[in-house]
Order: sequence, then structure tokens, then C-alpha cells
Amino acid sequence: MVTGVKEFRCDLHIHTCLSPCADLDMYPSALVERSVAEGLDVIGICDHNASENVRYVIEASRGKPLHVFPGMEISSREEAHVIALFENIDDLLRVQEVVYSALSGSNREEIFGCQAIVNASDEVEGFNDRLLIGSIDLSLQEIVETIHALKGIAIASHIDRESFSVLSQLGFIPPDIRFDALEISRRTGLKEARKRYPDLNGYPFIESSDAHFIRDIGEGSSRIFMKKPSLSEMKMALEGREGRYVKE
Ligand SMILES: [Zn+2]
Ligand SMILES: [Zn+2]
Repeated sequence: MVTGVKEFRCDLHIHTCLSPCADLDMYPSALVERSVAEGLDVIGICDHNASENVRYVIEASRGKPLHVFPGMEISSREEAHVIALFENIDDLLRVQEVVYSALSGSNREEIFGCQAIVNASDEVEGFNDRLLIGSIDLSLQEIVETIHALKGIAIASHIDRESFSVLSQLGFIPPDIRFDALEISRRTGLKEARKRYPDLNGYPFIESSDAHFIRDIGEGSSRIFMKKPSLSEMKMALEGREGRYVKE
């Protein structure tokens, strides 16, 4: 045991009301309150191709025992989802520029749902008009390289799901795409996933909730052992280096 390493309960894949498919009750202060009540130490905010609510979630978390990683769930040209997590909001905003320049179309609220930007005081600041549910015109490879160039972590989303995952779209995890981890949904869980995917033994697995509703927050989570909640500590944990690790 390395001194100073402790357990953090992490749910690294949570949507806000900015995602068209997420519930309107997923506004920043409400999801922070629920995360704390669920005993989570660390959360990742990952809306589809967008990030306008991230700074408000961080604001809502101030003074609370909760660390928020700025993130995004990016939909690739192959229609596979990738979680991107960053240390700070400036790096996230840089990836946001790349994503928006590769995303076309306008949202149709009556079909796909509302994309609300809500601040830390629960006020609606506006609505995102882009087609966030769509895929961007960049390949998985290009997206993962962009995330890494901007110092982020790239995690293949819910690989056990039958849609919008790298496995569902490609049938395998391309070894030349350097995912930092593979995410397993809470329905499968890590133990079952290790049995089901023996050929993916070389990858770290994490479990998250992919919450779209308040009640789902923390329903899937990972126990990550590190010194503090930072992206560099998380990278070490995913690589199992220097006493940091993800508990399975
Ligand atoms: Zn997804
Ligand atoms: Zn998601």
C-alpha cells in the first residue's frame, strides 16, 4: 500500500439536462445534491457532444465534498460513443471547438428533446440549438487523438451495449486506437464483463451509471484508489501504477 492512496467512489459518466435524451430534472444543483447524497466522491459530466452546463455543475459543487471532472460524450462518425475527461474546463472548451466544427444540423426539440443550459442557481440561461444527438464528422481514431492532444482521458463508452458502442459498431476494439479504459454499463458489471470479454484483459474497465435521470446517479460507479482526484492520478490508477488502481 502506497501512503496517501485512498478510495474514491467515482461515477464518471453523468448527463445533464443539456443532453436531449436526459431528464429536465438533471440540472446542475440537483445532480450535485444527489451525487453527494449517493456518497459519490467524484463525478464526470458528459453531455452528448456539448459542455455548456459543466461550469455550472462545478460552480454548484463548490463547498461540497465532491470533485467534478469536466467531460463530454462524443459520437464518432462510426456512431460509437467516447467519453472524454479533462483536468480543467479550458481543455474541455478546446475539444468543444473541435467537436462543434465537425457537428452539423439543428435540434428538433419535439423529436429529440430539449437541450437546456441551466446555471448553478437553477435559472435557464438558454438552449443549445445544435443537433447534439447526431454524430460528428470525425473518426474514432481522430477523436481519441484529439482528446489525448488536449491532455484528456479517452474511454470507450458502454462497450457491452448493443448500440452506439465501439463493439456494437466495429465488432472489436481496434488495437491502434489508444483508449485509456473501457466502460461497462451497470447492467453487466465488471465481474461479468471480465468473463464475457477475455480478449480485452489488457484494458482497464470502469463502471459508470450513464445517468439520464436523477435516480440513476451512482447506480453504476467505480472504486478508484488514488492520492487525490486529479486526471494524472486517475491515469496512474487506470494503468495500475505506483499503488493506484481501479478495484474490480
Ligand atoms: Zn452513450
Ligand atoms: Zn451517455
